[in-house]
Amino acid sequence: MPTAKDHTIVHTALDDVDASIRAQKLEENGIPTLKLGGTSGVAFGMIPAPEALHIELWVHNDQLETANQLMESFDEARGQSPASQWSCGCGEQNPKTFDVCWKCGATFGKSA
Ligand SMILES: [Zn+2]
Repeated sequence: MPTAKDHTIVHTALDDVDASIRAQKLEENGIPTLKLGGTSGVAFGMIPAPEALHIELWVHNDQLETANQLMESFDEARGQSPASQWSCGCGEQNPKTFDVCWKCGATFGKSA
């Protein structure tokens, strides 16, 4: 159990998958990561509140700055995934599956 004195939460993950991916990324970069919380801490038969399943990733204070940068670059990489909608020059929102605005007929990617 880390103490709040020399360890800091670098990220609170919403699920096991998110926690595992991030912890792996940190440890690949030489930062030992402690995972606290999640289903492992839930008593059998209990229905936990969603926030009880959050998993805290703790790193040593000496590595916090590097860890924060890694988490930022991780989020940026994620943010580059395409949005599910595109907005047309006429102001309409179209699903990514549409190449042409359903309202004015403009083609996606070309300014009207
Ligand atoms: Zn349009």
